[in-house]
Amino acid sequence: MNRRDEIAANLLAVQGKITRPDITLIAVTKTYPVSDVQILHELGINNFGENRNEEGLEKAAQVEGRWHFQGEIQSRKLRDIARWADVIHSLDDASHATKLNSVTEKEIDVFLQLSLDGDPARGGVRASELAALGAHLHTLPNVNLVGLMCVLPLGVEARIGFTEVAKIHRDFQGEFPGAQSLSAGMSGDFEIAIDCGATHIRVGSQILGMRPPHG
Ligand SMILES: *Cc1c(COP(=O)(O)O)cnc(C)c1O
Repeated sequence: MNRRDEIAANLLAVQGKITRPDITLIAVTKTYPVSDVQILHELGINNFGENRNEEGLEKAAQVEGRWHFQGEIQSRKLRDIARWADVIHSLDDASHATKLNSVTEKEIDVFLQLSLDGDPARGGVRASELAALGAHLHTLPNVNLVGLMCVLPLGVEARIGFTEVAKIHRDFQGEFPGAQSLSAGMSGDFEIAIDCGATHIRVGSQILGMRPPHG
């Protein structure tokens, strides 16, 4: 099978498991070559996810689409990230939000990253800190709060974890009605995340195969 057929078959299999029409599938292209992104684009995919600024910048310059940054944020790179990314999924720091608001040249959509266990390895803030961060975002005209994002801690059973995430999201939406989106679910658990109420899933290896290591 050539690469295009392989990706098309994988994509079809993933799309076949998407059971609601309101789901946005983000193809996570980090570490895969830009030729793969081009193939995905030809296959009708319009949302792409990247974890690193340099890599996202390079790919977004070559393939049109809606580009999502979902990696760890370094403050000094925010200006560059805001140039190529349309959406940031991994905001978890008020000072980053302030800086983003001042450096971006366009309004940018932002998900706040939630952490269920507070482990800094995956990033995110605890549920108890979300309201203050959300209120801060509301003071920033260039930063548009669209929802919450979560990566489950290792060892947390997916249905239990995503059910908790969905409940936290519902409470958050009570205070921030514009934050309707929930970015949850990756290759191993996106079907369960959809069941639990995710609106955005971030899927890489199920579509593109074994991920080459970051160089
Ligand atoms: C890499 C990554 C994904 C995609 O992971 P796969 O297991 O390849 O689907 C999704 N979200 C985040 C935050 C990631 O870092």
